[in-house]
Amino acid sequence: MGLLVQFAPLALIDARNAGPFGFLVPPSPHPVEALRLQALRHDGDCVGALCIGYSRDTKAPQESGVSAADFADRLSLILANLKQAERIHRQANFDSLTGLQNRHLFSEQVGAATLSVSAGGGMGSLLYIDLDHFKRVNDTAGHAAGDDLLRVVAQRLITCVGKDHSIARLGGDEFAVLLPSIAGPDDARRVAERIVADIERPIVVGAREHQVSASIGMTVFPADGTKLEELLKAGDIAMYHAKDAGRARAMFFQTEMQQTLIERMKLESGMQRALQREDFLLHYQPIVCEGPGGGLAVEALVRWPGADQAPWTLPAVFIPVAEENGLIVKLGDWILRGACEQFARWRNSGLRLDYVSVNVSVRQLRESGFVATILSALQDNDMRGSELQLEITESVLAHGAELALTLANIAALGVGLALDDFGTGYSSLSYLRSYPIQTVKIDRSFIVGLPHDPAACRLAESIIVMCAALGKRVVAEGVESEEQRQFLRHAGCSTIQGYLLGRPMEAADIPGFARRLRSIVNTTALKGDGIAIAS
Ligand code: C2E
Ligand code: MG
Ligand code: MG
Repeated sequence: MGLLVQFAPLALIDARNAGPFGFLVPPSPHPVEALRLQALRHDGDCVGALCIGYSRDTKAPQESGVSAADFADRLSLILANLKQAERIHRQANFDSLTGLQNRHLFSEQVGAATLSVSAGGGMGSLLYIDLDHFKRVNDTAGHAAGDDLLRVVAQRLITCVGKDHSIARLGGDEFAVLLPSIAGPDDARRVAERIVADIERPIVVGAREHQVSASIGMTVFPADGTKLEELLKAGDIAMYHAKDAGRARAMFFQTEMQQTLIERMKLESGMQRALQREDFLLHYQPIVCEGPGGGLAVEALVRWPGADQAPWTLPAVFIPVAEENGLIVKLGDWILRGACEQFARWRNSGLRLDYVSVNVSVRQLRESGFVATILSALQDNDMRGSELQLEITESVLAHGAELALTLANIAALGVGLALDDFGTGYSSLSYLRSYPIQTVKIDRSFIVGLPHDPAACRLAESIIVMCAALGKRVVAEGVESEEQRQFLRHAGCSTIQGYLLGRPMEAADIPGFARRLRSIVNTTALKGDGIAIAS
């Protein structure tokens, strides 16, 4: 009897090829007279279609003895199982965000490739790719935009390398490419350079254009290793060197590079130890208001003295590392408490400062207990909220809604918020308007050119005017000369911080500085090497 049974998962019903039911009319030797169409369902969804065709000499469909509905049910179940198995396979082997391979599958591919070159000679390459400034995208445009950007990067990698190659997302903004067989290192370099050039092209996400780049560590196997972990480690080291050399470039792994990594690990463990042993110190730099009702405040700046006469490690070196590895949360708490305790000591000894200003990082603000930490530091030291100021950078404001509540809660304590290094990040007027920022600190880079560089003068003047219009106080950072001080004063900024007045100093030197300040400011032009030294 001519019974034709055909089914297809929904995905195969392709209207472009033959209309919605084109698949139902296959080339068949038997003339088909009757068709019965049965939906394949699972969990209320249509997952496919079953079609039974009956030829001329077949009895009426209902008498055929075939329970089409029953058959369809079974098929539905089989299709659902297949779908489930496919889902599990994808979850286990592919990155859900980009669809690229995940570490598990990539590891298997690398294993097979290294085995093959070890057995048959030749060489292959693993490229370890890390995006530069990706954090900026997350910080300024939010995580959803960051995700979209990662998807675009994944597509560009596929275009550069070819979809038949193994490309993986290893996590965050880290990717890897496997070139299982290359004629020589130059092949790897060519692919890597293509990737660098392609990733550098602007990426539009939402309505915004972003510019990221890629730093690539190139490894060659079997020379640099035969296991994924070995090759990733070598790639990671080379990638760090590429970043150090200015980012947006590719570098081959070399054994000497390992030394740098060892130094970084030393820095990290040294910081852990220093925190436990309280080796860090706080220095304080004066912030002087020469305007009406002028006064003196200080900014707390952390210092890490080296052991046994070794040079001190600069904050610019260890703060970013602490921010990266999360140690800044503990260190930041220690700094906040230390600064508040010192403020109370000065007050108890008769020195009244307007406030102490403390730098805080995004990582600290993200901690759920941060507002409580501030409150207890204030209470323990009998301080009013207004006697503490927190300095945040523009990247904090770019976190938007995530940190808005924390900032509002901090402001509700009466604690001042200052925008540090203004002009170096994504300076946005809307940030200034929509967050409870009272003070803007103009970055030193805008002060350096004063008063001789006309463009620098116009910029500094505009920032001052703009802040005044928004009702913000302005502090000029990095003021080193009397000319700069006079220019700023003329332009309407009479609160300054910089070597002209005083370098960051030990807490014990602040009372003496305050005494000398009273007798100097408003009467004398400063000589340029600081009140503490000049007097
Ligand atoms: P910042 O908060 O903008 O601090 C001002 C930096 O400029 C300080 O560098 C200060 O010593 C330096 N400076 C002040 N006046 C002048 C000047 O007239 N000329 C020049 N050339 N430099 C001047 P420092 O102490 O090396 O700190 C660098 C950065 O490290 C700080 O920039 C801040 O972002 C970070 N940092 C320092 N201490 C802390 C801290 O306790 N916590 C956190 N999270 N970050 C800190
Ligand atoms: Mg600061
Ligand atoms: Mg600053």
